[in-house]
Amino acid sequence: MLQHLFRLRSLRRAFGRPTRLLASHWRLVAVGVACVPIHAAATLWMPRLLGETLDLLARGRGADAELPRQRLGQIATLLAGLALVEAVTRYISRKTLIDVSRYVERDLKDQALAHLQRLPIAWFDRSRTGDLVSRLTQDAELVRFVMGPLLLHGGSALCLLPAGIVAMAAMSVPVTLACSVGFGLLFLVMRLLVPRLHAWSKRSQEAIGELSQRAQEDFAGIRVVWQFAAEERERAALATRNRRYLFANLRLVRLRAAVNAITHSTTGLVMLAVLAVGGHEVIGGALTVGELFQFTVWLGLMMFPLEILGWTFATLPRAFAAGVRIEELFETPPESTTGATPPLRGHLQVKDLTFAYPGQVRPALRELSFELLPGHKLGLVGPVGAGKSTLLALCLRFYDPPRGTIFVDGHDVLDLQPAALRALFALAPQEPFLFSDTVLSNVGFAGGTASATAIDEAVAAAALDQDLPQLPAGLQTLVGERGVTLSGGQKQRVSLARALLGDRPALLLDDTLSAVDPTTERRILAGLQATRRGRTMLVATHRLSVVADADLILVLDGGAVKERGTHRQLLEHAGDYATAWRRQSEAAALEGGSA
Ligand code: ATP
Repeated sequence: MLQHLFRLRSLRRAFGRPTRLLASHWRLVAVGVACVPIHAAATLWMPRLLGETLDLLARGRGADAELPRQRLGQIATLLAGLALVEAVTRYISRKTLIDVSRYVERDLKDQALAHLQRLPIAWFDRSRTGDLVSRLTQDAELVRFVMGPLLLHGGSALCLLPAGIVAMAAMSVPVTLACSVGFGLLFLVMRLLVPRLHAWSKRSQEAIGELSQRAQEDFAGIRVVWQFAAEERERAALATRNRRYLFANLRLVRLRAAVNAITHSTTGLVMLAVLAVGGHEVIGGALTVGELFQFTVWLGLMMFPLEILGWTFATLPRAFAAGVRIEELFETPPESTTGATPPLRGHLQVKDLTFAYPGQVRPALRELSFELLPGHKLGLVGPVGAGKSTLLALCLRFYDPPRGTIFVDGHDVLDLQPAALRALFALAPQEPFLFSDTVLSNVGFAGGTASATAIDEAVAAAALDQDLPQLPAGLQTLVGERGVTLSGGQKQRVSLARALLGDRPALLLDDTLSAVDPTTERRILAGLQATRRGRTMLVATHRLSVVADADLILVLDGGAVKERGTHRQLLEHAGDYATAWRRQSEAAALEGGSA
């Protein structure tokens, strides 16, 4: 009983959502399903008329026998009408029910995509893109693949089988029994083979998944592969996975061929049994030749939906797993979209903030406190892993900080609507992400209607204008996947121009100028200084020259503040900051620039 309940619950988990989506297209489903019994009735009726025709022709063969022309004429008209009904209902049921399964697949993908976009960043930290894509494509397709045939052929089999069996039994019990024995044997053989078929289909799917994942990583990281001359090793790794895929598929083909051969030979054997037993019945006078003919045609008619149903049921466990994998996406609660939406200016207060990433024990930030007035600039410096990016991510609420630790304009960030909070900040992240589009589209990613002047200003402020003559089509240049055709510094500046374009009240620069040469850096900083216009700025960097003019500089180490103050105060303090400043100034002087 418990097991039953459990099964019911997991069935609901896997197929509940597709079923609800199916119900939302109930009109189409109703039309399609209504056509199925009409189609079945027409299909079953036609052999009956053909059988009767044969018997009438046989009876009218003698010299003095007269052909019942009137009845034959009626039958011909009826057959033509039935053929028309059969064709129309077959077309409508097929079109509507298969269409519906496509709509359900589309709705499922739409819902999943909309849900994914609202999932917390911490969830994305744990998931793999390849896996997500396979859930959204292969798994959704698998659900659709089972749903369409199940509706169409399941409905058809439900109507055809009982009606056909009753009609056949009414005509001749011995011949019906002969059929049943044949099909019983087929069922037993299938029960043996289908689980193996499953196991190998699963292995084949896993093998292609592994092959694609490895190939994807190898091509994305082709530079690393070349750098370490690892082509041979990687080629061997790919070949091994490819061989595994081949092996799984060869086994699969062998099994499928066996299933196919068994199905077809069983059909032939059943036909033989029907002819043998039926022939005996015809000789004994219990059955007419026309009736035997009906029998064989009915048998043929029932075979097709049965075979398709067999395949559908064989695919059900995979579709079940696919349904569960899709539902898992929905089981993670989305980020809240509610909260206050007051006008924000960018007054930031951080009070005793200690934060550890979800699932981590060691805090990335410890007892951090500071205040930044609107229009002021905060510099965040410190060694690798000090917690600079983490603080910026918390300001944007990419992760939830503990309550009562981060306030913007007096509101706890947890009480603000995330979208309203994020609209306050423009972010130029540490690793710029560019879309495979033109430079212009990447700069104007925020959407809206940025004027040409605003775009030119943002491009100039990010010092991207000096690179435009080098780009083949200027702002219209396509940047390749993730901006691969641009230099690291160019990518950073496209990302910076994108952040500057929105003219948002606060700007977060996360080591944004690390790949930019000192001259360009100076130009950008001077530009930002001139156009700051009351913009609050948080700047994380390893280059101290970037934050020398900041109103407050925090030197972080291991998540805690080690030193704090203005540039002048920190130099006077003669701590880590002062040492690093001296070193960087000397290096800059050697390179011919100034810090
Ligand atoms: P860098 O100068 O290299 O950019 P950072 O000062 O910006 O370093 P953070 O990226 O804030 O450092 O990282 C602080 C700590 O948090 C590090 O120990 C890092 O391993 C950890 N960390 C960063 N991101 C995550 C994450 N998504 N999940 C778990 N731990 C993380």
